[in-house]
Amino acid sequence: MSETAVLKNSQYYIDLENEHGAHNYHPLPVVLEKGEGVYVWDVEGKRYYDFLSSYSAVNQGHSHPKIVDALIAQAHTLALTSRAFYNNVLGPYEKYVTEYFRFDKVLPMNTGAEAVETAIKLCRKWAYEKNGISENEAVIVVCKGNFHGRTTTIISFSDDDNARDNFGPYTGGFISIPYNDIKALEEVAKDKNVIGFLVEPIQGEAGVYTPDENYMAKAQAVCHENGMLFIADEVQTGIARTGSLLAVCGNCSCENQCEQQATYTKPDILILGKALSGGAYPVSAVLADNEIMEVIKPGQHGSTFGGNPIAAKVAMAALDVVTDEHLIQNARKLGDIFRKEMNRIIEKTDLVVKVRGKGLLNAIIINDSPESETAWNLCVQLKENGLLAKPTHGNIIRLAPPLVISEVQMAECVAIIEKTIMEFKK
Ligand SMILES: *Cc1c(COP(=O)(O)O)cnc(C)c1O
Repeated sequence: MSETAVLKNSQYYIDLENEHGAHNYHPLPVVLEKGEGVYVWDVEGKRYYDFLSSYSAVNQGHSHPKIVDALIAQAHTLALTSRAFYNNVLGPYEKYVTEYFRFDKVLPMNTGAEAVETAIKLCRKWAYEKNGISENEAVIVVCKGNFHGRTTTIISFSDDDNARDNFGPYTGGFISIPYNDIKALEEVAKDKNVIGFLVEPIQGEAGVYTPDENYMAKAQAVCHENGMLFIADEVQTGIARTGSLLAVCGNCSCENQCEQQATYTKPDILILGKALSGGAYPVSAVLADNEIMEVIKPGQHGSTFGGNPIAAKVAMAALDVVTDEHLIQNARKLGDIFRKEMNRIIEKTDLVVKVRGKGLLNAIIINDSPESETAWNLCVQLKENGLLAKPTHGNIIRLAPPLVISEVQMAECVAIIEKTIMEFKK
C-alpha cells in the first residue's frame, strides 16, 4: 500500500506509536496536530480546549507568536555554540532572568529533571564546602508524594512504586517526610547532616495538594534555623500558574518577586522549567545567590544544550509575554471564578466531592476509588464534549488551562464540564 493510500486518521497515528514507540505513557485517545492559544485541534479537525497545558508548560498559550518569532529568528542566526565559547545571547538572558526573579545568578539547563539534579548537586557541594559536612554524609529532605522528574536519582526518592520499582539500585542521601508537616521537618532537621529541603509549593502531579497558607514560610524558617537550604521546585507551580509569579510569592499578584512583600518566602535555590519557554523549547533554570552558586566551578557541572542561544531568546520572550499580558492577574481572577463555579456544580452532583488549587492550577476529586476507571471515563467524555484533561493518581482530574484564557472562554469551559458531569453515567 502506498503512503498516500493510507487514511491518516487518529487510529493510524495511535497504532504507529503503539507499534514503534516505547510504552512509557498512557495517553488519552486523541491525536493533536495544531494548537493556538487555549485551543488544540485533532487530525480530524475537531477543536478542543486544552485543560492540561502540557503540564503547565504552555501557560502563555499554544504557539504564542512572540515566542515562536523569537525561536525562528534565533534559529536562523545561531542555534548552538556549546558553553566552550561565549555567545551574545546568554549573557543578556542571564541578566534578564536573574533580574526578573531577583537572584544573583542562574545556571541554565534544559529539562525540569536536569534542573532538579542541578539543585541537588549545588546543595550538596554547598554543604561540604561551606557548612562543614563530612564527605558523603549529606542528606536532603523530600516529601512523600513528591514529583521532581524521572532520572535515576530523582526516582530514588519517589514513593510512586510505578516510577521506582525495578530501577534500583537507588541513590542514597535522601529522607522522606509527610507533606505539609512542619513537625516532621523540625524532627529530621535536628541531624546536622541534613542540609536541604526540596519541596513543591503545591504538589501538582500528586493531585494538586495545596498546603496550609504558611507552610512555605515555616519550612524556610526551620531550614534557616538548622543550617539547611530551602529548595523550591517551581517547575509546575511557577511563572504565573498559581496567580502569583511564583507559588512562594504567596498572596501577592505583582509582576515581580519582591523582598519587601510579607508573604514572599524567598527560596535559597529556585528551580524553574516548563513555562520558562512557553512550551516552545526545553528550557530550565536553577537560580541562587552568589554565596551558594559560587561553589560550582568550571568543569563541575554542565550541559551541551544548556543556555543555548535559542533557549535564551525563547525564555526572554516567554517571560515578556507573562508580564505584557498580565498572566499573573488573569490566572488569579479566573482561578477564583473557576473554583466558585466548580463548587456550584459540586452542590448538585455526587460525582465530584471537592475542588482544590490556586490560581489556574486546580483539581477536582472524583467520588470513586483511585483504582476505578471513573475519572478516566469522565475525561474521555470531556474530550467528546471538546475539552482535554487527564486524571492524575486515579480519581483526581487536574484542570489547568493556558493562562491566556478569557472570561468568556472560561464560561464556555465551565458549561462543558458541567454538562459532562451532569450527563455522566458510571
Ligand atoms: C514536570 C516536573 C518536573 C520535571 O520536568 P521535566 O521537564 O519533565 O524533566 C520536575 N518537577 C516538577 C514539580 C514538575 O512538575
